Amino acid sequence: MFIEKFLCKNCHKLVTYKLFTDFTIMPILGEDVVFTETYGICKVCKNKICIPEKCGKNAERFYEEYRTAQEKYNGEN
Ligand SMILES: [Zn+2]
Repeated sequence: MFIEKFLCKNCHKLVTYKLFTDFTIMPILGEDVVFTETYGICKVCKNKICIPEKCGKNAERFYEEYRTAQEKYNGEN
């Protein structure tokens, strides 16, 4: 895994971080959709760090899941 330094908003300095993937279950249109979110964890303060490239992907994935749920919902009605 490639580790680079990133700015932690809590420490106010460049820190090394660990990539972490979290699973959240979100009800979308009456359907429970599993949504995966990837972010960094600051090695110093253990705070969540939003990594731009990952955060963008998180949002993309969310919209994708949402679209899928919506299509399914529309198809059933
Ligand atoms: Zn920190």
